[in-house]
Amino acid sequence: MEKRIALIEGDGIGPEILAEAVKVLRCIEERYGHHFTYVPVCAGGCAIDRYGTSLPKESLEACLDSDSVLLAAVGGPKWDGVDPSIRPEKALLAIRKELGLYANLRPARIFSQLKHASPLKESIVEKGIDFMVVRELIGGVYFGEKKTETVEGELRASDQMAYSEHEIRRIAHTAFQTARKRNGRVISVDKANVLDTSRLWRKVVHEVAQEYPDVSCTDMLVDNAAMQIVKDPSQFDVLVTENMFGDILSDEASMITGSIGLIPSASLGESRRGMYEPIHGSAPDIAGKNIANPIGMILSAGLMLKYAFDLDEEQKRIEDAVEQVLSDGYRCADIMEEGKTQLSCSEMGDQIVKTIRTMS
Ligand code: ATP
Ligand code: MG
Repeated sequence: MEKRIALIEGDGIGPEILAEAVKVLRCIEERYGHHFTYVPVCAGGCAIDRYGTSLPKESLEACLDSDSVLLAAVGGPKWDGVDPSIRPEKALLAIRKELGLYANLRPARIFSQLKHASPLKESIVEKGIDFMVVRELIGGVYFGEKKTETVEGELRASDQMAYSEHEIRRIAHTAFQTARKRNGRVISVDKANVLDTSRLWRKVVHEVAQEYPDVSCTDMLVDNAAMQIVKDPSQFDVLVTENMFGDILSDEASMITGSIGLIPSASLGESRRGMYEPIHGSAPDIAGKNIANPIGMILSAGLMLKYAFDLDEEQKRIEDAVEQVLSDGYRCADIMEEGKTQLSCSEMGDQIVKTIRTMS
């Protein structure tokens, strides 16, 4: 298979972890006879430094020309003071918008080897944490009209929250299709007791559910969902929700696994082209030291193989190799424990490559 992959290394630990993901992809190419072309794309803080904007036109075009985008991380305190209209994160919003990436998928899963890392009680963790948060990504309050005005001598600000049936319907389909490949259970999260957008959300989700009789669909209010995620995460298989609720709940869901360096994500749209990135940020505090954990980045490359290129077997092999490396007692600094072997960022990449090569 021939594919073009746009690589955004970005800022902070970005270049270090992306290099490890590329190592793993090259190993997959070799083993399975694929041919990937890697296109380096400059975006984020480094693009502000070089071009005065976080997403130069050429960079966006390179993403649009590729079969998928693999992103490490952008931003950092260095650019805190820049004009809000060119902030590093703006590059991501623009790419999501331009590629029409309306669905963000984030697995919240605890590796059996790292159960002790969860901040939750052992009795809760034992029941299992393995679910997928499907978050609507380009609608809702983050994209609604914003206004700050002076009313009767004091400042007043407002943010509009809006959803159309079409926007809800397409993300609902993503959720039900995802559930079909998993354990067939969707929990839709809203605030239908208060919000009109949520009432429409609920109505449309249930209409779509009719097309998936093999998948169960229940509703949960967002405040309750926030509670249930820490009380009994084993009840979730696929959790689907709107943009802002999803932003908050997906961070909560990843925290209960205790290891943000290990979690990948996929942003998908109508076309097969998507953007794949670890959930953590650019970690400027540890940049340039070769101590970052590249596993979230490497698993993101795995998701890319699965969702963008339908290479399920190759993705599974990467995931199995990561599990094997953890079982063999290898750790990066962020998840280091007594009696295990600590590896640097590049050593972890090498170990995963070696394991992919030797696994039967
Ligand atoms: P952003 O705003 O971009 O999400 P953030 O400020 O929320 O960034 P991160 O950059 O994700 O935060 O970092 C949070 C903490 O987790 C930092 O202490 C960082 O060093 C650590 N961290 C993040 N990613 C990794 C990783 N891959 N390996 C090890 N530690 C990490
Ligand atoms: Mg963050």
